[in-house]
Amino acid sequence: METIVIALGGNAFLQKGQKGTAEDQWNNVIRAMKQIADIIERGYRVVLTHGNGPQVGNILVWMEAGKEKVPPLPMDIAGAMTQGWLGYMIMQALTNELKKRGIDKKVVAIVNRVLVDKNDPAFQNPTKYVGPYYTEEEAKRIAKEKGWIMKPDPRGGWRRVVPSPDPKANLEIDAIKSLVDAGYIVVASGGGGIPVIKEDDTIKGVEAVIDKDLAGEVLASSLGADYFIILTDVEGAMLNFGKPDQKVIRKIKVSELEKLYNEGHFPPGSMGPKVLACIRFIKHGGKKAAIGHLYKALEILEEKTGTIVVPD
Ligand code: ADP
Ligand code: MG
Repeated sequence: METIVIALGGNAFLQKGQKGTAEDQWNNVIRAMKQIADIIERGYRVVLTHGNGPQVGNILVWMEAGKEKVPPLPMDIAGAMTQGWLGYMIMQALTNELKKRGIDKKVVAIVNRVLVDKNDPAFQNPTKYVGPYYTEEEAKRIAKEKGWIMKPDPRGGWRRVVPSPDPKANLEIDAIKSLVDAGYIVVASGGGGIPVIKEDDTIKGVEAVIDKDLAGEVLASSLGADYFIILTDVEGAMLNFGKPDQKVIRKIKVSELEKLYNEGHFPPGSMGPKVLACIRFIKHGGKKAAIGHLYKALEILEEKTGTIVVPD
């Protein structure tokens, strides 16, 4: 049986223009899980991962707003909270959908740490915007008070920035393998995993955010998965993105995609890490990687749409 690791983007939980009530979130997750069920129904073994950007941002806003009553907690713990939140929603929506189709499969979400290198250069150069927006004055005060690094966000206002280090290893990979072998559909590495470092022989959480697609690649490669599919809100990786002549890259060999990547066609923080994750997966021995629209999951697998990356 072939194994597929599927990475879900922000639109699986929150669509543009929605407020993000629990009802909105359930509707989105239920719709997304129909796509995943279509793939499971075809007989593939599926492992899921997901982003958590807006949700971790919300938790930071709640903590800031409630800080006089309850002490705020660091980002690694906020990341763990989102794994429970989103993992629960996926478990519930997917189990219900499978049951409707007469498929008796169990879904389990795990709390999952991902190791990063404490000497990763990202720690010297934080780039990832997180949490609430502040005025310049507030931001400068907070920077002094908490030792956070605050920068003006191009979208307006000042925000905290945290490092986005490269994922090195999924620390729960043995448990994930055991669960997959036992027939579970596993939800792992949520939000890129809880970032931890090794110091002497102790593991410690850090205030950082790991890109979920790069962490998804580590998960997929360590599992020896056959396919790695990144589901997002566009039809695929495009050339000339945002210009009148933008064009989806369809089927492409890994070395050709790497050349385009190195030419800078895919910006950091959005399409860049998705493309890099696909390149790494193929170089680590994967058979096929793909990027495409969330609501076309099965068509992507059948290569009818999306960007399909294959070995040379
Ligand atoms: P996700 O939550 O699925 O990870 P992201 O917002 O991180 O989604 O990345 C997807 C977004 O990347 C698209 O909505 C699109 O606006 C942006 N993007 C930037 N460059 C490209 C490109 N070259 N091709 C396609 N999409 C791109
Ligand atoms: Mg993203």
